[in-house]
Amino acid sequence: MYNAHMQNKKRILTGDNTTGKLHLGHYVGSLENRVKLQDEYDTFIIAADMHALAYPKYVFNTDVVSDSILQVTIDNLAVGLDPKKVTFFNESAIPEIYELAIIFSMLVSHSRALRNPTLKEEIKDKGLGDNYSLGFINFPVLMAADILAVKSDLVPVGEDQLPHMELTNEIVRKFNSNYGEVLKEPKPLIGKIARLVGTDGNAKMSKSLNNAIFLGDDEKTVKEKVMSMYTDPKRIHATDPGTVEGNPVFIYHDAFNKNSAEVNDLKDRYRLGKVGDTEVKEKLFSVINEFLAPIREKRVYYENHLHEVRDILSSGVKKTREEAVKTLDEVRSKMKLSAF
Ligand code: AMP
Repeated sequence: MYNAHMQNKKRILTGDNTTGKLHLGHYVGSLENRVKLQDEYDTFIIAADMHALAYPKYVFNTDVVSDSILQVTIDNLAVGLDPKKVTFFNESAIPEIYELAIIFSMLVSHSRALRNPTLKEEIKDKGLGDNYSLGFINFPVLMAADILAVKSDLVPVGEDQLPHMELTNEIVRKFNSNYGEVLKEPKPLIGKIARLVGTDGNAKMSKSLNNAIFLGDDEKTVKEKVMSMYTDPKRIHATDPGTVEGNPVFIYHDAFNKNSAEVNDLKDRYRLGKVGDTEVKEKLFSVINEFLAPIREKRVYYENHLHEVRDILSSGVKKTREEAVKTLDEVRSKMKLSAF
């Protein structure tokens, strides 16, 4: 599977926390770019099961974390990533990654680690209060270790990951300037929609906010979620002129409806008070349902062939580990970390 041709390609590493199944926000933020770039880049997809342990909800609920390794991998396969081209692995199977994370954590001051808007937002959104671990604060350093272990050039991510990418690049510069050139600064690649709003109008679609449409949701569930979506709260009747900008229903139309004439017509009529929310939502439901149908079908295939998913992960772990061992050896050698 891994040949010389692939070795000359630039690399991508990206992935998902194993805290459940993936949703439309994951798709527009990152998955779409993964699929688009899989021929051009040697791509590594991480099921981040160590990262999942950073959350109090999951660290003592590891059944969910472990099952999600398969689920997020199935989601990635179902949207069109080709296991013949792409390397899938789970983070906890690569101990070199945690070794790198410990080393990198020595290069990051405590105050710098805390200065991270995404961590602050998660503390608020997930209601963590003071109940977060040292591992939670180290989350971005562990992410740096994932990316740098395979010397990734590009990292397709949603906007919320940008502060973590900044830290990754700081670690690279600090390491290379102190010990010698080993690591490579990766570039983030933001998706078509940097941050997809939730069905409830919240700024971010997120499983923990209970406002997500999952890639595996069945038709009935999608219909219920779309029909109860938040729209323009100031609009009471279908004849009231409505606001399109920032309205989740239209954000989703823009993201998923390829019929731009239909979208423009709906927007025009919405602004004039000449279309009801129901019609806009019904059209949106059709579009999303059509988009999800082939994904759902592929999901079912892999759900019924879990041994294939396990094999894909197992060969991916082997390949990733070879790369991580090389990077760790270089890091240890430059830092004169001895083994006797
Ligand atoms: P997570 O599973 O939270 O690790 O997210 C995996 C990837 O999906 C990351 O690159 C996130 O930035 C991206 N992502 C998650 N939720 C959204 C969203 N609502 N909008 C855009 N990107 C998202």
